[in-house]
Amino acid sequence: MGDVLRDIEALAALLPAAQRGAHAYAKKIDLFSGSDEVAAAHPSGRAYLAAARLALLQSEAAEALQEIRDRAVDLDPAARRPDDALSLELADIMIRLLELSEFLGVDLGAALVAKTADTVGGYRHGGVRF
Ligand SMILES: [Mg+2]
Repeated sequence: MGDVLRDIEALAALLPAAQRGAHAYAKKIDLFSGSDEVAAAHPSGRAYLAAARLALLQSEAAEALQEIRDRAVDLDPAARRPDDALSLELADIMIRLLELSEFLGVDLGAALVAKTADTVGGYRHGGVRF
């Protein structure tokens, strides 16, 4: 299990830059135009903006689910290509997660290391089966 944590730590080290990059790209393409006004207009403005981002992340998960549900999609791992629809939807999820994390100030890498350490230490899904 030490290898798992070491691998997660290696990934975690890359995530802060990836978060900043995803957020900067979203700003550059004006993905959330008007968000400064929303944040300033209401005490819950930032919560609304976070919720919108999370909804978009969920929509990407739904798109990935649709790909999995599609009987025409070969789910054999050997069939995966970096540019197939399922792979791209999973990448969309990651991009949205990185951007959301940066928006909220979450150090996703540190959280991932903490969560992995808990899991390796025996924590299992809060007592549920899966
Ligand atoms: Mg998508």
